[in-house]
Amino acid sequence: MLEIKNLHARIAEDGTEILRGVDLKVNAGEVHAVMGPNGSGKSTLSYILAGKSDYEVTEGEILFHGENLLDMGPDERAAAGVFLAFQYPIEIPGVATMEFLKTAMNAQRKARGEDALTIPDFMKRVKARAADLNVTMDMLKRPLNVGFSGGEKKRAEILQMSLLEPSLCVLDETDSGLDIDALRVVSEGVNKLRSPERAMIVITHYQRLLDHIIPDVVHVLSKGKIVKTGGKELALDLEKNGYADYVGAAA
Ligand code: ADP
Ligand code: MG
Ligand code: MG
Repeated sequence: MLEIKNLHARIAEDGTEILRGVDLKVNAGEVHAVMGPNGSGKSTLSYILAGKSDYEVTEGEILFHGENLLDMGPDERAAAGVFLAFQYPIEIPGVATMEFLKTAMNAQRKARGEDALTIPDFMKRVKARAADLNVTMDMLKRPLNVGFSGGEKKRAEILQMSLLEPSLCVLDETDSGLDIDALRVVSEGVNKLRSPERAMIVITHYQRLLDHIIPDVVHVLSKGKIVKTGGKELALDLEKNGYADYVGAAA
């Protein structure tokens, strides 16, 4: 589904190189964890997958279902089935969460040449999924993310993800700022979306999210390169011994 080859990228503004030759292959049905110390380039990798303009790819390529992802704009990527849950969800004052979700779903449908959802059809879908994620009607009426707690933001984001039914989900530090209960609700929401047709890249600094979302493959990113790949036990090893064994390896 996704193949990242020798990806080098830098910050557009000042030319600082962040990614220094990332290789990553993700098949449909797989959940990959990308772990690594702060500043290793995890968020940068997710932003590049989403098509954020602050970064420049200087070398390498990204194939998504065999197509060049880097040639596609952010909207095209979303329509093609890429979804990114950001580490820091943005607040949109003045736009009710419900309205935002409807706009996102209909934009995706339009890009795919499908008709907009009718209001009853949209409401039916939202209510069914929102209930699973403890997203209340009150939250749906409030402006997106404004005054939401950390847990509410992440739940709203997973709700958006479940409504868009992406084929590739990239979750950047979904566990940050969550207490144990919120972590469980969010993880269950993510686990429900696991399927043979869908792949996920779960980015996290800590092992604890991976107690709930069990990955098939674990990668360690350090200084802009994947320096180690293993099974789920690699995450446990990192929890016990820290990143020190791997951090030097990329230098
Ligand atoms: P991680 O998510 O692994 O903590 P990031 O991808 O956020 O790492 O950042 C990698 C490095 O690049 C850090 O040193 C960070 O400060 C720097 N960086 C990332 N994006 C920007 C940006 N837009 N402007 C300046 N520095 C950035
Ligand atoms: Mg960070
Ligand atoms: Mg980050």
